[in-house]
Amino acid sequence: MTGLLGRSIIVTGGARGIGAAIATEFVKTGASVVIADVRDDDGAQLAHSLGPSARFHHLDVTDSDNWVRVLTETEDEFGSLLALVNNAGILDFGTIESEHPDLFRHVLDVNLFGAWLGMHLAAPRLRVAGGGVIVNISSTAGLTGYAGIGGYVASKWGLRGLTKAAAVELGAANVRVCSVHPGPIHTPMTAGLPESMAAAQPLPRFGEPEEIAAMVRFLITEATFSTGSEFVADGGATAGQALVLESVE
Ligand code: NDP
Repeated sequence: MTGLLGRSIIVTGGARGIGAAIATEFVKTGASVVIADVRDDDGAQLAHSLGPSARFHHLDVTDSDNWVRVLTETEDEFGSLLALVNNAGILDFGTIESEHPDLFRHVLDVNLFGAWLGMHLAAPRLRVAGGGVIVNISSTAGLTGYAGIGGYVASKWGLRGLTKAAAVELGAANVRVCSVHPGPIHTPMTAGLPESMAAAQPLPRFGEPEEIAAMVRFLITEATFSTGSEFVADGGATAGQALVLESVE
C-alpha cells in the first residue's frame, strides 16, 4: 500500500457529487485532503464536517494562478503532494448542429484543459516528492459516443488520451497516471436524468459516488503496477446491452 502519512491529496470538484465521496473516503483512510472547487460554501461545509484532516480551497481548474496557490498551500499545510484527482467537470447538452461554439469550448476548457493544467503544475512537485499518483475522472463518454453531448464526449476522450501521454512521460519519475470511467452515477450533475437510462445495462441501475471513490482509493493506494490504464465502473454498460431475444433462450 502507498503510504498516506504526511502526504496530501487534492480532489478537484470535491465540494459535491463524486469528488465529495472521494474526499470523504480518503479522510476515512487517514489521508490529508484538500477539497478544491468553485463552490465555496459547499466545499467549506464539507471540509468542516470532515474535520482537521480536510481543508477547502477555492480553485477554478482553468486558472493557472489558482492552481499555484492551491498546490503551495496544500503542501504548506499538509506535506508533499501524494495524489491529484482531476475530478472537476461539467456536462453540456446540444447536438453537433445545435450546440453553441462557446459552450463547446467551455466544456473542453474545464474538462480537458483544466486537468492538463493541474498535471502540468503538479507533476514537478510529484517528481520532487519521489513519486505519486494522478487520477483523471473521465467517463464512459471517453470510451464510446453519445448523442447530444458532443463537447463532453470530446473532452472525456481527450482526457483518456492525455492520461496515457502523461503516464508515458512520468513513469520514470515514479508518477502513475490512470483514468476512471464511470457510467451514470447519482450526483447533482445527473439529477435531472431518468433512471431508465440505466435499464439496458447488465447491472440495471445508477451507481453511487462511493463506488467510484472506492475505485479511486484502490488506484492511489494499491494499484502500484498500473499506469496509463483505464478503470471502468459502469454497471457493465460498455460491455454490451442486455437484449432479450426469445430465440436465444
Ligand atoms: P457534480 O456536478 O455533481 O460535481 C462537480 C463539481 O465540480 C461541482 O462542484 C462543480 O461546480 C465543480 N466544478 C465545475 N467547474 C469547475 C471548475 N472550473 N473548477 C473547479 N471546480 C469546478 O459532478 P459529478 O460529481 O457527477 O461528476 C464528477 C466528475 O465525474 C466529472 O468530471 C464528471 O464528468 C464525471 N462523471 C460523472 C458521471 C455521473 O454520472 N455523475 C459519469 C461519468 C463521469 P458547479 O456545480 O458550480 O459547476
